[in-house]
Amino acid sequence: MASLTKSNLLTALDSLSRGNWFKLICGASYQHLPSIRNLALVYTLAGADCIDVAADKAVINSALEGIKVAQKISSEAIALGYKTHKNPLLMISINDGEDPHFRKAIFNPNQCLTNCTRPCESICPAEAITFNQINQGVIEELCYGCGRCIPICPVDIIETESKIVPAADVLQWLDIFPMDAIEIHTQEGHFEHFQAVWQTVKSYLPQLKLIAISCPYTTTVTEYLTKIYQLISPVEIPLIWQTDGRPMSGDIGDGTIHLTIKYAQQVKKMNLSGFIQLAGGTNEYTVQKLHSLHLIPEIVNGVAYGSKARKLIADTLHQLESICDHNQLELYPDLLWQGVQQARELVKPLKVQ
Ligand code: SF4
Ligand code: SF4
Repeated sequence: MASLTKSNLLTALDSLSRGNWFKLICGASYQHLPSIRNLALVYTLAGADCIDVAADKAVINSALEGIKVAQKISSEAIALGYKTHKNPLLMISINDGEDPHFRKAIFNPNQCLTNCTRPCESICPAEAITFNQINQGVIEELCYGCGRCIPICPVDIIETESKIVPAADVLQWLDIFPMDAIEIHTQEGHFEHFQAVWQTVKSYLPQLKLIAISCPYTTTVTEYLTKIYQLISPVEIPLIWQTDGRPMSGDIGDGTIHLTIKYAQQVKKMNLSGFIQLAGGTNEYTVQKLHSLHLIPEIVNGVAYGSKARKLIADTLHQLESICDHNQLELYPDLLWQGVQQARELVKPLKVQ
């Protein structure tokens, strides 16, 4: 199973100390089970330290299945020269209020313009909007809430539905799933809600290996993080501050990385206990930029990748869909190792220092 032994925890913490911690973000609201299974499989084989998934039992099961398959074939990966991390930490994301990571786009296709060129369909990075015989509109499990479709609709009919994940519900799953870590998504203005969530999470800390706090950037975010820090200190387990610069934008281009790096530098100056890990806009240019600024490991302990990580192996997963009607990527070794090689393009620069 994917549960964490003491030595695996040490390995994961060692990655944080070295500044080469790699986290795969499957998406706090992404629920496409075949993709989640295979993302977990491929990125475990590619050397990820942590797999971060939505608070959904079916999603957790799928991620665990992917990790388990990777564990079974890890010796093949090692023989092929991949440094796999056999037991990546399993992290579950929860939120303390409205948050773009925890929403789905929604619209009624009957209200669409009859002659619309469907820019919503072409802009969606998750291929979550389709108009065909099977589906008209948003495919719920594929949408991860990026919001790019919303401003592009000429008649403004795309709305979002948000979800708040109750911390107590999720933490009870510790009895049935080997969950290693919880990530709390918060943002300025949510302090009272964060306090309530923390009260719940705090009592479960002895059962967790790691806790992460994710907050999007604003010009006054350090004041908010100071309040959070005063509330939670001291934290008796390892803590990660996730500097979510430009959320869900890593697949757009190289310019998206600057904000999360600037944010990490600001957080470092605050001298908070804990590790600092980038997210929000991270992509294949991130590690090179971090090295050029000499930020690893002095300031940055790790990097999380979401949109970019999913996009990198999307073609491989499409190829799998086109040749079979199941999700077992491991039954097609050429495709599996092609996917691992693609994932490794993102993992390797961080791991080779
Ligand atoms: S563009 Fe983003 S918000 Fe809109 S449907 Fe696609 S994933 Fe969902
Ligand atoms: S852009 Fe708006 S009107 Fe056009 S297809 Fe999409 S949702 Fe319908």
